[in-house]
Amino acid sequence: MKYISTRGNVEPRGFIETVLMGLADDGGLMIPAEIPVISPATLVEWENLSYQELFLEIFLYYVNDEIPLEDLKEMVAKSYSTFRDPAITPVKPITDKLYVLELFHGPTFAFKDVALQFMGELYSYISKKQGEIIHILGATSGDTGAAAIQGVRGKEGIRICVLHPHQKVSKVQELQMTTVNDANVLNLSVKGNFDDCQRIIKELFGDLGFKGEHHLRAINSINFVRILAQTVYYFYAYLQVVKTNKDASINFSIPSGNFGNVFSGYLAKRMGLPVNKLIIATNENNILERFIQTGEYKPGDFLSTYSPSMDIQIASNFERYLYYLVGEDAEKVSAYMKKFQDEGQIVIGAEAMQQVHAEFAAYGVKNAECLQVISKYKANHEYLLDPHTACGIAAYETYSGDNEVCVSFATAHPAKFDEAIKLCNIEQVLPAEIQQLLVMPQYQTIVDNSKEEIVKQLEAFYSRATDVVEN
Ligand SMILES: *Cc1c(COP(=O)(O)O)cnc(C)c1O
Repeated sequence: MKYISTRGNVEPRGFIETVLMGLADDGGLMIPAEIPVISPATLVEWENLSYQELFLEIFLYYVNDEIPLEDLKEMVAKSYSTFRDPAITPVKPITDKLYVLELFHGPTFAFKDVALQFMGELYSYISKKQGEIIHILGATSGDTGAAAIQGVRGKEGIRICVLHPHQKVSKVQELQMTTVNDANVLNLSVKGNFDDCQRIIKELFGDLGFKGEHHLRAINSINFVRILAQTVYYFYAYLQVVKTNKDASINFSIPSGNFGNVFSGYLAKRMGLPVNKLIIATNENNILERFIQTGEYKPGDFLSTYSPSMDIQIASNFERYLYYLVGEDAEKVSAYMKKFQDEGQIVIGAEAMQQVHAEFAAYGVKNAECLQVISKYKANHEYLLDPHTACGIAAYETYSGDNEVCVSFATAHPAKFDEAIKLCNIEQVLPAEIQQLLVMPQYQTIVDNSKEEIVKQLEAFYSRATDVVEN
């Protein structure tokens, strides 16, 4: 299996090179040159596999022989040993048409752990095997940063710097990142929003000199391995739900920001998983909803909502989907992305939009509705949704047809967003892991929203001696 760029100007690469490259060197995103197709017979064979076994089956199509099976097995076992539920991502029935896929049983209580626990192990493995220095640089709307830091904490040969938008993440999100006082962790709190953080990161990764000199590695969903790790739970959930819903169409409803999680579902679909529709749930930052309704992809004004991890206007992974939408034509993608950069928008024609509508639905949830849904599911089903998950449920309610069942993603634990839960007049008991954060000291540097300032901080960080990175 080789990997290529959506913009067509990167020589085909192997799996490990693709992981290390992160953002493609031509500014595009890396994708498999050919998507492997899983036959219906194989799917049946996978029905009773554990999460970890399923992970291995799927990854074996993608890692070539670059990682020996025994090593991969060990990494997968370690990655998921930190989860609090033996099923890793348990599927919970709520009604006879609705299931919730709980993705929040990892160390930081959000779905990012599912991919980032593995990515931490993988980077550590590559660092040891190849003597690679790994300097992770990432932007976060709150959850990626915490999950990535937990994923690499205490691992030799790795340093990590995370940019988060100052005072635009929840209290628990901030604490999960900034209470870590390890010498190999740097938290920069940027006076701006997530899109500012992501733009600076993309510029730094786009500066190949800087990237090479400082060994920069990506943890955001621009990195293909994150996308791939997230396909596993689509297969896992589908195989569970289909057992009792043999004749129903199965939809997924996905609380979305950067389009990473949805793209993982799209990849699963192209690999042959018989998913009916992918329902994209957004909050009031609804660029994706507007795209699905109108064919126009154009950022609107940034809004702070109760679901801060989805407060994103520019959805990086949209480019991966665009590649398939235009018939795997990298030149067309380049032209569209240039237009987006120059004119701030992309418009897709009516014919291609028919294709989009066959595969996706989308719904943007208003702040008030989000809280209503949380209250309603607590009252009627004794199930407490976090505000991101509530957006997914609202979208499911808007788009559920006859003879369809839906797997709606619980992307975070409600304890991470107690601010919103309190507004619903609901008291929750915080898990001990979160409770203990509330009294810990914080370590972070508040910086201006400027690339030069970030570069200065990074250079100081990389020149600082820490006992963990000398190898
Ligand atoms: C990151 C995140 C999302 C959005 O996922 P994308 O892959 O960026 O679309 C949704 N909910 C929560 C809780 C998140 O942390």
